[in-house]
Amino acid sequence: MVKRLRYDKLTVEQVELSGKRVLLRVDFNVPLKGGQVADDTRIRLVLPTIQYLLARGASRVIIASHLGRPGGKVVPELSLHPVARRLETLLGQPVIPVDRVVGPAVKEAVTAAPPGSLLLLENLRFEAGEEENSPELSKGLAELADLFVNDAFGAAHRAHASTVGVAGYIPAVAGLLMEREVKTLGRCLENPGRPLVVVLGGAKISDKLGVVNRFLTMADYLLTGGGMANTFLVALGYELAASLAEPDLAAVARELWEHSRHSRCRLLLPVDLVAARELQSGSPTRVITIPPGTVPAKWRALDIGPATTEEYASIIAGAGMVIWNGPLGVFETEPFHRGTEGVARAIADSKAYSVVGGGDIVAALKKFNLSSQVDFTSTGGGATLKFWEGRELPGIAILKDRH
Ligand code: ADP
Ligand code: MG
Repeated sequence: MVKRLRYDKLTVEQVELSGKRVLLRVDFNVPLKGGQVADDTRIRLVLPTIQYLLARGASRVIIASHLGRPGGKVVPELSLHPVARRLETLLGQPVIPVDRVVGPAVKEAVTAAPPGSLLLLENLRFEAGEEENSPELSKGLAELADLFVNDAFGAAHRAHASTVGVAGYIPAVAGLLMEREVKTLGRCLENPGRPLVVVLGGAKISDKLGVVNRFLTMADYLLTGGGMANTFLVALGYELAASLAEPDLAAVARELWEHSRHSRCRLLLPVDLVAARELQSGSPTRVITIPPGTVPAKWRALDIGPATTEEYASIIAGAGMVIWNGPLGVFETEPFHRGTEGVARAIADSKAYSVVGGGDIVAALKKFNLSSQVDFTSTGGGATLKFWEGRELPGIAILKDRH
């Protein structure tokens, strides 16, 4: 039996908020374009928590987020000011942008703000102490508030000052979005609909082997594509030429393949692939059947083939639950989007409860206009994978337990 990790954390719904200064950690790591927020999904998802805190009488809500990778110094292009403006529009209420993360001026801004105010601190990663989880920064953040609320599930796998350190100084509880993530993703592990079909693709293969291992013990089907499938195929001796794969992982992949033969879970590899010489829209393609599975020299497999797509679609049609991470091909470039789109349509048509996680699969669904067809979209990438792997997420572990 695999050790099951259960989180039972206090949320904003179980603590006194009235008159409290609340430090709310969110994931407003949104794409910017020309100084404007290009996609405000992540901001919208936190609105219920902000509104809840204000409705329950929090005296100040001090919002903190990271944005991009400024590397511990001020990078003006990564300022959260455009986010403050968008948040203000979405809430229909003023948001006070603060120019720093901690320090006397920030404390002063918090004190000077009228009760019921919303403040947005500057990008946490402008401070080197954030990613170092420095006690100074953690203390500085804690001094701003009476209560810490973590609603940044996507950052919960990182032990930073604003996700872990700060909780050493003031009480810490989960926000509504965090609670929803933990409940829904937890249900995938605790009580999944059957058959449970897991679809795994994408490029970052080494990050995902732990998830393969985990799901082999509990899923009914594991359907692979993208670099993930290529790595298995290469490990099993197929010639994939210039395809994306991690041959260094061959031994691990072979072990997982062996393991799958004795597990309840059927691990499926593609029965065909779409290959091209150039990763370009309109470049000639070939369908490679497996076996023999030989990609011509200098060509690369860029998508699962039509027979694989059909097979995966028919398995999904009979699923009780589908969990998906990682696109099955280079969906950004036509026609290599077809496998990913075909599987996405199968999920849309199926009665299965569907959960997706990871930045690129979310982008793919958006591109196909199918975002609303999945039942739950996790805001996490790395955090979601670690959660499914059964690893403890430090940003959740430090929250107060519900007794
Ligand atoms: P996610 O963010 O959903 O977890 P990853 O970041 O691991 O996914 O991988 C996403 C990337 O994988 C996409 O940019 C996609 O183009 C790429 N990809 C998928 N299949 C292939 C393939 N066969 N060859 C090269 N790249 C691929
Ligand atoms: Mg990605």
